[in-house]
Amino acid sequence: MQAVPTGVGPRRLLGRIRDLMAGEATAQAKLDKVVQVIAAGMVAEVCSVYILRAGEVLELFATKGLRRRAVHQTRLRVGEGLVGEIAAHAQPLALSDAQSHPAFVYKPETGEEIFRSLMGVPILRSGRVAGVLVVQNKIERSYSDEEIEAMQITAMVLAELVASGDLVNPHERAPAEGNALLPVRLAGVALNGGMAMGTAVLHRPDISIRQIVAEDPEVELRRLDEAVEEVHQNLDRLFGRGELSGAGEHRDVLEAYRMVASDSGWIRRIGDAIRSGLTAEAGVQQVRENIRMRMSQLTDSYLRERLDDMEDLSLRLLQRLTGGANGGEARDLPDDVVLVARSVGPAELLDYDPARLRGLIMERGSATAHVSIVARALDIPVIGQVKDLFAKVDAGDTVIVDAENRQVFVRPVEDVQQGFAETLRLRAARRQAFAQLRDQPAVTLDGTQVSLNINAGLELDVPQVHSTGADGIGLFRTEIPFMVRAAYPDVEAQTALYRAVLDQADGKPVVFRTLDVGGDKELPYFESEAGENPALGWRAIRIALDRPAMLRQQVRALVRAADGRSLSVMFPMIAEVAEYDLARQVLDMELAREKAKGGTLPRKLSVGCMVEVPALLWQLPALVERADFLSVGSNDLLQFLFATDRGNPRISERYDPLSPPALKVLLDVAKAADRAGRPLSLCGEMASRPLEAMALIGLGYRSLSLTAASIGPVKTMVRSLRLGVLRAYMQTILDSREHSLRERLRAFALDHDFAI
Ligand code: PEP
Ligand code: MG
Repeated sequence: MQAVPTGVGPRRLLGRIRDLMAGEATAQAKLDKVVQVIAAGMVAEVCSVYILRAGEVLELFATKGLRRRAVHQTRLRVGEGLVGEIAAHAQPLALSDAQSHPAFVYKPETGEEIFRSLMGVPILRSGRVAGVLVVQNKIERSYSDEEIEAMQITAMVLAELVASGDLVNPHERAPAEGNALLPVRLAGVALNGGMAMGTAVLHRPDISIRQIVAEDPEVELRRLDEAVEEVHQNLDRLFGRGELSGAGEHRDVLEAYRMVASDSGWIRRIGDAIRSGLTAEAGVQQVRENIRMRMSQLTDSYLRERLDDMEDLSLRLLQRLTGGANGGEARDLPDDVVLVARSVGPAELLDYDPARLRGLIMERGSATAHVSIVARALDIPVIGQVKDLFAKVDAGDTVIVDAENRQVFVRPVEDVQQGFAETLRLRAARRQAFAQLRDQPAVTLDGTQVSLNINAGLELDVPQVHSTGADGIGLFRTEIPFMVRAAYPDVEAQTALYRAVLDQADGKPVVFRTLDVGGDKELPYFESEAGENPALGWRAIRIALDRPAMLRQQVRALVRAADGRSLSVMFPMIAEVAEYDLARQVLDMELAREKAKGGTLPRKLSVGCMVEVPALLWQLPALVERADFLSVGSNDLLQFLFATDRGNPRISERYDPLSPPALKVLLDVAKAADRAGRPLSLCGEMASRPLEAMALIGLGYRSLSLTAASIGPVKTMVRSLRLGVLRAYMQTILDSREHSLRERLRAFALDHDFAI
């Protein structure tokens, strides 16, 4: 491969382009000149600009080096060829041997077959691809990171030219009146439950960078300092708002964000960009583009979070520096905002007036993403990981966010809108009816009491134990607070958290599950290897037994938090009784230590075991001897039983929890617990669905732990149940060879007026 003389520095190149832009010529004439200047500056034989037109087509608008007659003739669809590839992924591409790339397509009219190397960058405008800028060389050469950056900066200038509307009518890409886009349904992952309907607001900050090359770097550095200072003050104000004043993990999230905001390395990089000749806003933008590029390649969820925070901050700075609007601030918003975003930072979300915010949909996002936790505090439905969201939704579209069914309806037809509005009304009415049930007991018509508890994972979930009238918290997943923190919480921090949980539960029992991390639930500050099958990997109790100090610290924190009150602890992913014994020994050692140190021990201590690894099913008699209580983790138990990944939508519903083998396994556990008089509960997702909960009660389960929103529907079902007839009926069907007993159970319930 040949070394190539580098062209003029980015500063001089930009200076020339700026002079051209300031001239009097038409936009097309400017573009024709610009490609020549870039080709010379980048020492490339070819420089071409493609602009996105209606119908997702990229049209060659100007070229130096390709045949002139191809201009306005050569067109590529987004995704077609290398240029289409750059537009589709909104990512730069640099290839020393372009023609061997699988996406390469040959356009004979351009005469480009003689060019071997290619480098292209997207022309981005308000977060959307507006075109592609490409250079090509005859020889096989590689392009340096600095050259790619110089092209990105140049593309920023071109974006302004495209936006001016002189090249392509800006309305061209908007759907014409009467030719509105069709309704679509998009699937995603529910990151916070609930349902909402509203008007799409694209989280696409309106920022336009007019000046890229600085006159005086000192002035720009001062502007940056002032903007950073202003942003900090603004964050103090935002984070101090009333809705967020309560305790909870969202406070940690906001603190972590604040740390990023004060990160000097990041600000220094912007300073370096300014010293290389950019204005403050162009410097922020350049560092932001680099971050975005790195972000798209990251798999580590913690780092992605940090980089998301930086994206949020970059936009804030840009807004200050350009006087543009950053998302929710200073914009005319509808009263029913459904925010549509690639991703959105926690502080950005708070820019939108919470009184108008109905829901949030994102292309990215995870349940422990910082924004999801803040959204939980604001109580709005959130759906994440919606593919191609940004391409499918336009501002002003009516959008339905149905987090209960993990789906989004965009531009639903009138009938669907009306139907959904009716669903919302019914939900509100049902919620009212459930609220009235809050203080009624969960007792069947024939007098059997069922204990209904909630699953929780954050401090801010705890108050729901009171608002729903649940008996307690049947599963507190302790790993979630660990996952949203920047560093491993020490004993004091853990004690404070568990104490807050117990205080807020106010005497209602809470079952703390020890850390279930590892595998796919990575802790950012803890080295672990995910392995090929994370669910079967080094996780949960396996880590705890190999690193007993972690478990001991957690137990110490729990004991101190209980401070003489009752305490329930259970271990996840126990595969054999010997493992339970070992875990219990670690716990006992810690108790002995506390006692020796004169600490206050819990008034009553219950140590339980989760039943979620099938091997344990063959040691039930020994297990019930030892454990104070059992809790079935049906999510894992069934995934391992049927060998189906619970996180893979393609197969996760292939086998039914209401199938004969699943129900018979669950029955065996119930019988073993009953024989030994051991309390038994089930805390997997199936307990949250009334029909499944009914079947569990029929099998002998007298305690369930479910999502808070399901307490009302499940209690209603319990109160309508005649357990005697159900139990007798279930005995007659369990030996069936059918795939599922769901329809039979449903028909039986309806025949008997059970409120499923
Ligand atoms: C389960 O496996 O059913 C369970 C409750 O635990 P988790 O969903 O946290 O794995
Ligand atoms: Mg589990």
